[in-house]
Amino acid sequence: MSVFSNLSRRKFLVTAGASAAGAVLLKGCTSPSPTASSNSPSAAAPSPVAAGDAPETTKAVLGYIPILEAAPLVVAKEKGFFAKYGMADVEVVKQANWAGARDNVVIGTQGGGIDGGQWQMPMPHLISEGVITNGNKVPMAVLMQLNTQGNGIAIAGMHQGKQLGLKINDPEYIKGFQAANGRRFKAAHTFPNVNQDFWIRYWFAAGGVDPDKDIELLAVPSAETVQGMRNGTMDAFSTGDPWPYRIINEKIGFMSALTAEIWPYHPEEYLAMRADWVEANPKATKAIIKAIMEAQQWCDKPENREELATLVAQRQYFNAPKPVVLSPLKGTYEMGDGKATISDVNKSPLYWKDPNGNSISYPYKSHDLWFLTESMRWGFHKNALTDFDAAKKLVDRVNREDLWREAAKEAGFTADIPKETSRGVETFFDGVKFDPENPQAYLDSLKIKAA
Ligand code: CA
Repeated sequence: MSVFSNLSRRKFLVTAGASAAGAVLLKGCTSPSPTASSNSPSAAAPSPVAAGDAPETTKAVLGYIPILEAAPLVVAKEKGFFAKYGMADVEVVKQANWAGARDNVVIGTQGGGIDGGQWQMPMPHLISEGVITNGNKVPMAVLMQLNTQGNGIAIAGMHQGKQLGLKINDPEYIKGFQAANGRRFKAAHTFPNVNQDFWIRYWFAAGGVDPDKDIELLAVPSAETVQGMRNGTMDAFSTGDPWPYRIINEKIGFMSALTAEIWPYHPEEYLAMRADWVEANPKATKAIIKAIMEAQQWCDKPENREELATLVAQRQYFNAPKPVVLSPLKGTYEMGDGKATISDVNKSPLYWKDPNGNSISYPYKSHDLWFLTESMRWGFHKNALTDFDAAKKLVDRVNREDLWREAAKEAGFTADIPKETSRGVETFFDGVKFDPENPQAYLDSLKIKAA
């Protein structure tokens, strides 16, 4: 019996929205923070908030999805870092799914929603432009990156032995799947046109498979995808921790690649808030950033990873058995399909600084531009992303790296402030390079892309 024998699938559902209170997160409805009274901020150091420098409010409501990307939000709450910076009443509220988070930020806390929280990219940009909100433009502010890595490409067990690794050695196996099996090779992510969609598209295309022409790629709730992988109707899943651990341990399939292998220290999920909240509460915004910065530093200390797993596994957060979250936090990934187990903490979710010395927390504008460039590669949002000039202007409107810099300076993290708003040229596993100074050259270099 696996440790998961009593583990309900529902517990992992980013779509289930099972909060401790049993509240269903409908539009205009959020559950209160479950830890508001259970955790004393007194454990943290004395408040560094100087007299007269107090935040405009002590409260903000931040949404999260129960995956390891959200760890800094949980830690900032549980370890008292929000309180340390004068934000004792910050609530971190589980969201039913990405669409629910989007809907909750559109209505804001005045409507019972959220002020901001965790996002895949470029959701803040798309919400700002009204692209995924029925034309309702809600300007957003990207404040910091929450994490890197911790995602991957899972493949159903029926495809073992077909050389579906980081590189797809036999693309004809996938392209010819319909002729051999009567249906197209079917792959899923949980929300269209954001990280998970981009990672699996990149992987397919690098392996010579056109994700728009050669396969079926669609948004499906995670539990439905996993069920489809079990019963042979779903072939691939662009997923995040802790799902890969389950997929291997429950013998649902194997991992073809980790995103840490596709693009080491790639941009992943971000903290963004409504721009009107940020403008009304600039000191509180920086207090939130500082608290999460401390949480990220705490998360990356090897000696804290065991406690981090304990914290996020709790019922009111991920509601998961601790080994499920501890394994990826230790960088231990069984890959399956005869591949060697990965055991490297540098391939785990990381939060503050990568082994190259680059900031993870800082929201590089060059990374926002990659997400928008990749959107252009696949022909997404043609009305909003007419050219690189429009993309860069959108990045300049939404990315508030200036606030990150101010917060880092005020909190004394000056040594970790990047010099540039660009991380420079990025290199993918297949040798493709993205130079943020010349995104057109990147698009030109790609063989598979939308016309
Ligand atoms: Ca993710």
